[in-house]
Amino acid sequence: MSLSHRILGSLLLPLIFIPSQNALSEALGTKWPKASAIFLTGGLPVGGPASSLPGNTETWRVAATEAANRWNSKQSAFKLTTLSTLGNGVCQSFGDNNLVFSLTACGGIPFEDKVLAITASWSNDTTIIKADIIFNVDRDWGIYNDTLLYSTQDFRRVATHEFGHAMGLKHTTNNNALMFPTASDIFSPTPDDVESLESIYKEEKDSGGSITYLFLLALGIWPLRLISTHKKAD
Ligand SMILES: [Zn+2]
Repeated sequence: MSLSHRILGSLLLPLIFIPSQNALSEALGTKWPKASAIFLTGGLPVGGPASSLPGNTETWRVAATEAANRWNSKQSAFKLTTLSTLGNGVCQSFGDNNLVFSLTACGGIPFEDKVLAITASWSNDTTIIKADIIFNVDRDWGIYNDTLLYSTQDFRRVATHEFGHAMGLKHTTNNNALMFPTASDIFSPTPDDVESLESIYKEEKDSGGSITYLFLLALGIWPLRLISTHKKAD
């Protein structure tokens, strides 16, 4: 069995241009066979943000579960489950679906500039079989809602965004949606995000073909282009 491997970046601050598309096209073209997945948070450190940072009374693992539940509470098309056990096979095509902090993305590839986290997923033809979410440890991470603090990232909203990729969503051009490619004040799935997810999992399931392929989408450069900073699109 050969596998398809995708990596998507979550970018901070810069405005990113991606080709126009409507909500119903915001799928990666791959999906989980049972519209559900279990992610293990035991690869995240015990504890949470440093005492000087927002959310220092919270923990990474609980925040990751809350991120999953932000999706679960808004739709029934896909069920995310988290368990606080330690998984195996981080950045491998086998093993568990993991959330971890790391200095590098999968394969030892450095995080691209401004990338907060990536989701790497492996699929057999159109069926996702495994996904890992890797957070760039070389950032100041807190846990908080509402207005984005540019000096401190919000682990929970980035996790929520990456869970979207892990379920099969790609980016949206709607800058009021969670799946917009840059972090913003949006910290929970919006109707646009939910509609995209439902478009994947409410259609009739297909069995997938036998022709498989391997490719890697480099972080951040997949079909994105930096055009300016500190400016919102419309
Ligand atoms: Zn993203």
